[in-house]
Amino acid sequence: MANQDLATRVIRILTDEYSRTVRFTLSGLFTNLRIDGYQLVVNAIAQGKITCEVGVPPNPNLPAGSYAECRYEKRQLRFPHERYGSIPGRETFNIVHEATHAAFDCRYGNHGGTQILAMDDEAAAFFAQAVYSRVSPYMWGGSLVEGDPIAEALKLADKMGARPGRVEPYLVPEQYLDQLLISIQRPDQYDLQGGKAGITHTYLGLT
Ligand SMILES: [Zn+2]
Repeated sequence: MANQDLATRVIRILTDEYSRTVRFTLSGLFTNLRIDGYQLVVNAIAQGKITCEVGVPPNPNLPAGSYAECRYEKRQLRFPHERYGSIPGRETFNIVHEATHAAFDCRYGNHGGTQILAMDDEAAAFFAQAVYSRVSPYMWGGSLVEGDPIAEALKLADKMGARPGRVEPYLVPEQYLDQLLISIQRPDQYDLQGGKAGITHTYLGLT
């Protein structure tokens, strides 16, 4: 069931001054994978085309036993409880991550199903939350594990000059993306090595 408190909170985060600066192109991924803020997602939530829900089903794309905190799937942003994102910080960044998947559904999805390589899709979502975290005054809280996708995405955001006040889009060269892609493919992360490297996410669009 759609949760209005969550929807209101997600819209507030996606329209704040930091979300508006999350604009980038990741060169060489899906030709060029592009995010230009979250207005499309905000409009879709406001119109009820994307809903915010409580309850996160297991993600078949993650290794058994690993835990996805929140998830975008089938025009739903799904969260573990209705207060998710109330305290600015890591949960806010995770909302930006999932909203990035939603933005791709808005931008690239269609009836026939648009396939984006899972590792490319995740690289963009991790980069988006890393940029947001660097531009915002909010903290991650707790430690970040060296070599994990979040740590690699933060390194890339720093390398690209993400900082408070920056507004111009980030044009990320393909050769900068290697470490982030490798971290996502690791067996203890999204497990996309070898024959699994071709796994895609399918975006069906909003209509
Ligand atoms: Zn993701």
